[in-house]
Amino acid sequence: MDDRYAAARRAMVNTIRRYGVQDKRVLNALLSVPRHLFVPKHLQHCAYADHPLPIGHGQTISQPYIVALMTELLLLRGNERVLEIGTGSAYQAAVLSLLCKEVYTIEFVKQLCEEAKERLKRLGYRNVHVRCGDGYFGWKEAAPFDAVIITCGTPRIPHPIIEQTKEGGRIVAPVGDPPDDLVLTRFTKTKRGLKKETFGGVLFVPMRGKVERRSSNHNR
Ligand code: SAH
Repeated sequence: MDDRYAAARRAMVNTIRRYGVQDKRVLNALLSVPRHLFVPKHLQHCAYADHPLPIGHGQTISQPYIVALMTELLLLRGNERVLEIGTGSAYQAAVLSLLCKEVYTIEFVKQLCEEAKERLKRLGYRNVHVRCGDGYFGWKEAAPFDAVIITCGTPRIPHPIIEQTKEGGRIVAPVGDPPDDLVLTRFTKTKRGLKKETFGGVLFVPMRGKVERRSSNHNR
């Protein structure tokens, strides 16, 4: 790999560690994924700064610290099946692929989805499966999942996704009113329903498709 950016990547991971992410496996995954190859060429020089960047189609690659924090909250040990809603650049998916067994990721925007497939193949992330569509419905054929990460803002967790999560499984998502009234939330599925924990305010693009239509109907 062209490692012109190795020092910048180490500095990024040091910042993330200082912000409080401690899981060594997560930090090592971030040290290994070449984030500059997941952003548009003209933005490569700022790929390792701790902020989100535009990836086209009005979408963004998340801030590195948030990627690390959400990944840590999934509590992955290495043997899990993980579902991601919102592939975007596929950076988060690449990070996940180093920490679990299989990643299933769904992207709404067809062109981003095709680019993500091509990029993951080129970079050799073989345990990531990409599908184009509305993540609202989850990925039934690949369920049940040990962990789910939603990387777009949503007023609530779609029902099919809760159904497709194993008991004891985690769902990490920005929940609330996108883009700026969102709280990073972890739900753990138990026999008696979802246990909820919150981790502060975050910024995310809104989830599109069915969840969006349902909430606008709801407001009328
Ligand atoms: N995880 C990404 C960042 C995602 S930005 C990364 O690492 O780069 C959020 C993404 O969610 C956008 O690409 C957007 O198109 C996608 N998205 C929005 N609504 C969606 C839906 N209903 N199903 C699947 N993807 C969705």
